[in-house]
Amino acid sequence: MEYRRLGSTGMYVSEIAYGNWITHGSQIESDAAIKCVKTAINEGITTFDTADVYAGTKAETVLGRALKGVRRESYELLTKVYFPTGNGKNDRGLSRKHIIESCNASLKRLQTDHIDLYQMHRFDFETPLEETLNAFDDLIRAGKVHYIGFSEWNASQIKAGLKIQDARGYNRFVSSQPQYSALWRVIESEIIPLSAKEGIGQIVWSPLAQGILSGKYQPGKKAPTGSRATDKARGAYMIKGWMRDEVLEAVQKLQPIAKDSGLTMSQLAIAWVLQNPHVSTAIIGASKPSQVRENAKASGVKLDPSIMKAIDAALGKIPETDAAKTQSPNPRP
Ligand code: NDP
Repeated sequence: MEYRRLGSTGMYVSEIAYGNWITHGSQIESDAAIKCVKTAINEGITTFDTADVYAGTKAETVLGRALKGVRRESYELLTKVYFPTGNGKNDRGLSRKHIIESCNASLKRLQTDHIDLYQMHRFDFETPLEETLNAFDDLIRAGKVHYIGFSEWNASQIKAGLKIQDARGYNRFVSSQPQYSALWRVIESEIIPLSAKEGIGQIVWSPLAQGILSGKYQPGKKAPTGSRATDKARGAYMIKGWMRDEVLEAVQKLQPIAKDSGLTMSQLAIAWVLQNPHVSTAIIGASKPSQVRENAKASGVKLDPSIMKAIDAALGKIPETDAAKTQSPNPRP
């Protein structure tokens, strides 16, 4: 495993991180989830991403259990706040009340006294931005949080946040957590140049487009049993936007490119996002330890420019590049 600095901070992250959205506490049982975390550690993964909302808060509990006994200084723990964690009107969003209450609840579930990176899971259109940034800054000063970042904010939202942080002397954002894969490239035109200028690193999610780029979903065929596309809890709903024949057909054109590169399809897809120097880490998901082992081998792979061109040619017009697709829901859910 290779390691990169998170944006311009001095903190290193493993260039492949392990995330437990959908999987832990919902799609897969706690035993399998814990095995995936142990395998990640054995593969040199030190960066773990979760969120208060995942599996209705159960994902943090499972991750806390899986990391129990592991030397706290040896891994970086990332979590998030914004989406509802209960039915109350204050169980959501980025108000000072919810941020601080949710942070304390995450710390308990994760069985730790600090979060390495605390992220605003979306932009909150209701709470004044000053209130949100002041609360995050207080968490840093209280030692509960080491760094702060956001997820799926657009360029004008990022600029507005930095302006307030600079004017008020608050700690600045160090990370952005956007979706990024060979199929979803919307951050390339605006978010990456702005972040690079501001020292903000990209922690990218769904590098396999939820498993689509593994090539296991064949056009016109039933999805493999046990895959996310067959998970009635939530997975099938989340992946369905990708389950279109035109996408699956284009992805199959990557098979010979992966073979010629001596990589599996999943390794090729993860290596593709890591070719971008602005990516600090790619967060992979996995329902089985074997996937973690396979995917971790994408670290350190250099793809020749001719391979990058061949990937573009194979995918044609399928990849999404529109910067306007980086967005947070308004009004909040
Ligand atoms: P991926 O794109 O890596 O998809 C992971 C899924 O693909 C696995 O759960 C598995 O599903 C399948 N898969 C993985 N490896 C292989 C393989 N080698 N062969 C075949 N199938 C494979 O990432 P996720 O969509 O899971 O997202 C990763 C993380 O990103 C999340 O856990 C979370 O931490 C973060 N995230 C953040 C978001 C945000 O808003 N900030 C939103 C979404 C994710 P299966 O076996 O079930 O088919």
